[in-house]
Amino acid sequence: MTDNHNLLYIDGEWGAPSSTRRLEVVNADTEEVLGSVPEGQQADIDRAVAAARRAIDSPTGWAHGEPHARAEVMRRLADALDKRKTAITRLVSSENGMPIALSENLEGTVPGLLLRYYADLICDAVVEEHRDGLLGRPVTVRREPIGVVAAIVPWNAPQTLASLKYAPALAAGATVVIKPSPETALDAVLLGEAVAEAGVPDGVINIVPAGREVGAYLVAHPGIDKVAFTGSTAAGRKVGEVCGRLLRPVTLELGGKSAAIVLEDAELSVELMRDEFFAATMMNNGQACFASTRVLAPRSRYGEVVDAVVALAESLEVGDPLDAATMVGPLASAVQRERVEGYIAQGTAGGARLVAGGGRPAHRERGWYVEPTVFADVDNAQVIAQEEIFGPVLVITPYEDEDDAIRLANDSDFGLGGSVWTQDTDHGLQIARQVRTGSFGINHYMSDPIAPFGGVKASGIGREFGPEGLASYQQLKSIYF
Ligand code: NAD
Repeated sequence: MTDNHNLLYIDGEWGAPSSTRRLEVVNADTEEVLGSVPEGQQADIDRAVAAARRAIDSPTGWAHGEPHARAEVMRRLADALDKRKTAITRLVSSENGMPIALSENLEGTVPGLLLRYYADLICDAVVEEHRDGLLGRPVTVRREPIGVVAAIVPWNAPQTLASLKYAPALAAGATVVIKPSPETALDAVLLGEAVAEAGVPDGVINIVPAGREVGAYLVAHPGIDKVAFTGSTAAGRKVGEVCGRLLRPVTLELGGKSAAIVLEDAELSVELMRDEFFAATMMNNGQACFASTRVLAPRSRYGEVVDAVVALAESLEVGDPLDAATMVGPLASAVQRERVEGYIAQGTAGGARLVAGGGRPAHRERGWYVEPTVFADVDNAQVIAQEEIFGPVLVITPYEDEDDAIRLANDSDFGLGGSVWTQDTDHGLQIARQVRTGSFGINHYMSDPIAPFGGVKASGIGREFGPEGLASYQQLKSIYF
């Protein structure tokens, strides 16, 4: 561990924290302490927000520079993160149990990809647009940086989800205070080191790992202009309430309980199940907000679908997240495993038929492991079909016809992802149009950064990714001549 593990990255430098309190991060596989960092306090948040404000308010600062100059800095940050790819991916996998193959594709890749994408986008973007007015006089519409952003990030994909916020924010000319989760506070040090190496100007990115109380303090801080939150629906509601009272722009990326609609003509080959179907339903050990964890199966092929999903669950390589062959690693924490096991108990008690898993894998003596678990004959009204479990647990519900399948898919408080499985992609598109959700996949699900991502209903408000993600860090100003 470097000395930076005793410091916080604020205002362009590693400085002493305001208290001696620390956040200890535990290895999800070994249950041993991986390391610790200072736990940010209100005084640290005050300092970080003040630094971010100076960087915004200075007339020669970040917000007022040329987009090309910002893009250069962003590309340097992408390079600095790429240089740390191995360290980042291994550390995140140890912290939260993410299988290393996934960590390389997400945590080690997406931040650089997004920084370069938004750097290119801002260079081509129209920041000042002239319009012929309807009242006979010209008008100029400006897209100005939104100001200081509070970026609150969960533990399930900490580097990726932070970059969904800071990459468009930086492109727009905004500055950020990032609050990483306690469970994954260590990899934030690597982000800070990359920011320092890239020469990101002082105050533009500040990082304060802390718990939820300090997070709530940041959300309500008078120096904040926008909140970008990713996390649970319960916490998102609280953040939304505060932002509503303060009339503060907010993006909420929350939970999900998406449906995988298997149509009568679906291909259920072992290859497709282990590849695309697995990725859409159980990636990251089921700790993915958009996962299609409710499988809707036609009565006509019900037994076949149940058998295919059970065969998939039983074939998955469960083990050390640092092993490249691992498909399912441990859950992120003891608390998370307790939650998931509580849902499994509720499923059984509620009368669902447990057809795969349900316990802890016998070959792992340590670590927060749960077997890939499948429940069949699940009524869509049951708790395990309605609440987000956030673990490797799938529920299968039969449907009568496609109208019934769409009704069941939409019978949810959430609307984040979803998928349809069919050999007829045109038909799949027709299904996609009818599901109330923010994103949907046909024989595949993986959000593409070019397209807006976010939820409807209790899955959130606003969109990240794409030009729409950039727009959410810009404030419009109209100037009448
Ligand atoms: P969480 O809501 O407990 O915490 C998320 C983050 O918010 C953490 O940094 C936490 O410290 C902070 N926080 C919690 N309460 C807060 C408050 N009142 N004010 C300010 N900050 C607060 O969620 P989690 O358990 O860390 O993450 C898992 C959840 O995140 C799941 O529900 C998952 O679906 C959701 N998620 C959503 C997306 C998405 O894009 N929609 C992506 C990943 C995860």
